[in-house]
Amino acid sequence: MSVLPYKNEPFTDFSVEANRAAYEDALKKVKGDFGKHWDLLIGGKRVKSKQSIKSIDPASPDTVIGTVGKASKAQAEDAVNKAHDYYMKTWRFVNYEERARILMKAAHAMKAQKHELSATMTYEESKNWREADADTAEAIDFLEFYGREMLRLGGAQNVEPWPGEENNLYYEPIGTVVVIPPWNFPLAIMAGMTVAALVTGNTVVLKPASGAPIIAAKFIDILLEAGMPAEAITFCPGSGGEVGDTLVDHPKTRMIAFTGSREVGLRIHERAAKVNEGQLWIKRTIMELGGKDGLVVDETADLDYAAEQAVLGAYGFQGQKCSACSRLIVVDKVYDKLVKKVVEKTKQLKIAHPENNPDMGAVIDAAAHGNILEYIEKAKKDGNKLELGGKAIEGGFFVEPTIFSGVKPTDTIAQEEIFGPVLAIIKAKDFDNAVEIFNGTEFGLTGGLISKRRDRLERARREFHVGNLYLNRKITGALVGVQPFGGFNMSGTDSKAGGKDYLLLFMQAKSVAERW
Ligand code: NAP
Ligand code: MG
Repeated sequence: MSVLPYKNEPFTDFSVEANRAAYEDALKKVKGDFGKHWDLLIGGKRVKSKQSIKSIDPASPDTVIGTVGKASKAQAEDAVNKAHDYYMKTWRFVNYEERARILMKAAHAMKAQKHELSATMTYEESKNWREADADTAEAIDFLEFYGREMLRLGGAQNVEPWPGEENNLYYEPIGTVVVIPPWNFPLAIMAGMTVAALVTGNTVVLKPASGAPIIAAKFIDILLEAGMPAEAITFCPGSGGEVGDTLVDHPKTRMIAFTGSREVGLRIHERAAKVNEGQLWIKRTIMELGGKDGLVVDETADLDYAAEQAVLGAYGFQGQKCSACSRLIVVDKVYDKLVKKVVEKTKQLKIAHPENNPDMGAVIDAAAHGNILEYIEKAKKDGNKLELGGKAIEGGFFVEPTIFSGVKPTDTIAQEEIFGPVLAIIKAKDFDNAVEIFNGTEFGLTGGLISKRRDRLERARREFHVGNLYLNRKITGALVGVQPFGGFNMSGTDSKAGGKDYLLLFMQAKSVAERW
C-alpha cells in the first residue's frame, strides 16, 4: 500500500480573513444544528435509552448543544458482550490494510469538515478558535499516524532466520477495548485511543466523557461513513460513576484505555486487576492521568520570553490541560522581575464567549467552576499572595486568570492538580533548589526549563523527572509523531500516545515456526 509519508496537519492561520470567515460560517452551521440527538450504538444498531445526557455550552449554560443516549448498566453489559462477539467472529480477522484504510479515509473526511468539528468544541467545551483548531488537527494526526503505523506493524516482523524452518512474528489484536476519555481534548484524545484500538484489530466500547458527548458522536458518524463496521465501534455514553465499573469489571473486557484524573484512573487500575467469573485473561490498562507541571526559569533567561511562554502554558484553554503550566518556579535573582512581567502579560488576556475568539473561554462545568474557586480560597487561607484574578465572572462558568505568588512548594496549590486558570509562582533559592522543587510532586507529566546555560539544560534533561520535557519553550502542545505524549509517576503509565510504541500496547505478538 503506497501512501504519502506522515505529516502533521497544519494549524489554521486565523490572521487570514478567508480563514476567519470560514470559521464564522462553521460556527453558524454548528449552531443551526443545536438540539440534535444521538442514540447509543450497540451491536451495530442504534439503540434507545431511558435517559439521555444533555450537553451544554459552558459559556452560556442555558444553551443545549445536543443530547445523546445515556446507557444503563444493562446496556453497558450488553455493549461489551456484543463487541466481544463481533471481535471473535469477524473484526480480528479483517486485514490490517483494510483497517488502516478506514483511518486514512476518515482523516480525509475530517479535513473536509475541519472547522465544523472545531466549532463544535468552541461551543461544547468553550475552546477558542486556536485551541479547537489544534484539537482537531491533533485528532487528524492520530488517524494519519496510527494508520501508517499499522502498515508498518501489520505484516510479518523481523526475526532471525533459522536453518530448516520458516520463522515469523505477527502482531495480533487482543480483544474488546473499553475506551474512557476525558472531556478536555474531547476530539483528539477520544479519537486517538479509539482508532488505536480499532486499527490494531480490536473492537471498541467508547464511553465518552459526559461533558463532551456531541463531538464524540460526530466523530463516530465520520468513522462509520468512512466504512468502519458499526459492530466494531460501540458508542456507549453514560455516567462514569454509574456504568464505569460495569464496563471495567466485565469479564469480556480485555483492556481499558483511560485518560483522565488520578482518582478515577487508580480506581480503574485496581478493579481491572481483579479476575472476574468467566474471564480468560489478565486485563491490560493504559492510564494517562493528571499533572502538576512546572516551568523553571533561571537568571540567565530572557524574562520577557519566559513570561510569555509561562502565560501561554498556564492559561491556554483556561488551564484545563494535563500539561498546563501550573507551577512557575523562579530563581531568587529574577523572581520579582518575572512575577511582575507574568502579571502584566496575564492582565492582557481577554475572556469572553469563545465564539468571539478571545484568549480564554469558560471552564467546563459548574462542578469544575466551584472546585477551582475553592482552591483559590484555600490558597488565600494558606497565606499565598493573590497577585491577580481570583474571582468568577458572570454569564457562564468563567474564572479570571489567577496568579498566586510566594507559594511554598508544599502548599496545596503547588501539589494538587487544580485544572483551571490558576498559576502558583514559587521562589527557589537557586537552580539546585529549583530542581528539587520541580521534582517535588507525585506527578511527572510535562515540565520545562528556560535558561541560556548549557550545563543546566543538560541537567534538566537528566534530572527533571517528567514524560515530556520542554526546554526554552512553553510546556504544552505536544505534536503527534514529534513529541509522543505520556507521563511518569502518578501522571500515568507513560503509554506515549502519538509515538512508535503506542500501537504495540493494543496487540500481542504471535511467533510462528514451521519446519520444512
Ligand atoms: P475524570 O473525571 O477522571 O473522567 C475521565 C473519564 O472517566 C470520563 O469519561 C468519566 O466519565 C469517566 N469516569 C468517571 N468515573 C468513572 C468510574 N468510576 N469508572 C470508569 N470511568 C469513570 O477526568 P476529566 O475530568 O474528564 O479530565 C480531566 C483529567 O484528565 C485531569 O486530571 C487531566 O490531567 C487528565 N488528563 C490527562 C491527560 C494525559 O494524557 N495524561 C490528558 C488529558 C487529561 P463521566 O464524564 O461520565 O464522569
Ligand atoms: Mg472530572
